[in-house]
Amino acid sequence: MIRRALRVAVWAAVFVLAGRAWTAETPNAPASLNGKPAGASKAFDDLVLYAPGHFGNSYEAAGEAEMGALLEEAKHWGFNRYADWFNMDDCVDPFPKSRVVKLSHAVWESKKRHFRAAMARGLPCDLAITPNHVYIDQCRPEWAAEQSDRIFGQLICPSKPEARQAILANYENLFRDLARSGVRLSAVVAAPYDYGGCACARCQPWILTFAKLSREIHKLGLRYYPRLEMHMIGWWWQPAEHKEFAEWADREAPDWIRRLYLWIPYGQTTVGQVPLPKGCQVAAFVHIGYGDLPGQERYFHLGPVIAPARLEKTVADLKSRGCRSLMAYSEGVFDDVNKALLAGLASGRFAKADDVLSAYAMRYLRAEEPPAAVQWARWLRAWGQPFQVNAEQAHAELTRLPGASAPVSWRREQWRLKCELFRLHARIMQGSNWTPQRLALVDQFWATQEELYRKVWGLGPVRHIFERRYTPLPWYQSWAKHQAELARGIGAQQ
Ligand SMILES: [Zn+2]
Repeated sequence: MIRRALRVAVWAAVFVLAGRAWTAETPNAPASLNGKPAGASKAFDDLVLYAPGHFGNSYEAAGEAEMGALLEEAKHWGFNRYADWFNMDDCVDPFPKSRVVKLSHAVWESKKRHFRAAMARGLPCDLAITPNHVYIDQCRPEWAAEQSDRIFGQLICPSKPEARQAILANYENLFRDLARSGVRLSAVVAAPYDYGGCACARCQPWILTFAKLSREIHKLGLRYYPRLEMHMIGWWWQPAEHKEFAEWADREAPDWIRRLYLWIPYGQTTVGQVPLPKGCQVAAFVHIGYGDLPGQERYFHLGPVIAPARLEKTVADLKSRGCRSLMAYSEGVFDDVNKALLAGLASGRFAKADDVLSAYAMRYLRAEEPPAAVQWARWLRAWGQPFQVNAEQAHAELTRLPGASAPVSWRREQWRLKCELFRLHARIMQGSNWTPQRLALVDQFWATQEELYRKVWGLGPVRHIFERRYTPLPWYQSWAKHQAELARGIGAQQ
């Protein structure tokens, strides 16, 4: 314990000295070592980094300089466009005059800064929207949307005239404020679900109610941005909805939808063969927040993720499917390697995932010679299937990889802590009863995760899918139940 406490103290000191954690380092390899110049073998038109700042993730926490540094690196690997979403969850309407700065004001101001950071790097900016998702003070019972399995959140029904007016007024405010703040929007990207939808009879079929509402919002946007394009995200759409939507768009709104980012379901590497409106570009929405296999880990509960096999196949499959643009769905800096993989491969700068990983090691992990970079690439690749990795052994190998004696790097440190999380997980799995020793291992697991969240990624309170209750480990439910029983026992004694 003393050794551990000492080690934690040393790391803490190093991070304090290094300044804020995850953008404190400077890439160390010249661009010539990082693949062909961008555009040498261009496979896709646009590679969009969709980095929604919400739920306490890295992007919500990031300051302007941090976001600028992150976008600089995203651009280095091949991203050429940026998107964000104003997730109104827990936020009041920020536009009525107020003397206080609330969460909604802080989040919105930060988004405008991030858009400007992207513009300063030449990246066109897109605003993602889920049209009937509204501020918490607009969730009036008489406006409420009917919720169902795919439909949840702060939603109001756009078939109710006053609720529809409130939605349109929200977007009028957002567009006006973006324009006034010097943000140039290139596209609005609308999604019908995952904080969108209404299951009431008047809103059926929802996909068309959503389309018509999005069209009205787009018209508002055109007042401020005359060349604003309309794109859509196909997340959770069903094949029948695609058919209905394409027929409606061809009939009622020809040439309106310029691009549709089709959804890739978990476990698959390409998009479905679904009808699209005439003239609509086929594009793909690529989830980069998990490893090579679905269902094992998602988002950042278990540290950084890497998907070399999945993303290499995804890029190849999407290219042969005729996709012209990709949108990377990113939930934080934990997917840093996947950003490099997706953009590095899709931009045509690298032919193989291993080539990207070697270049990544040379740029960030102090691998100065190609053999050292290959060693690093091999080590990283194994984490594509993290539950197959022997974490004790991986940690020992990590200490022998190049760069161990160099100043600490957040990119290296997040992988050290992943080893530690998986080492503790393996030991927890050896037991079945909640003995004091096994409970102590879980405490160490949370302490390691806290070190990663607070000292490496600089996160504050995380919400929604990032909260502890969604920890994707088999012992979690039993541990949580045991903790609840303990708490009840203590309560009964008081
Ligand atoms: Zn409705």
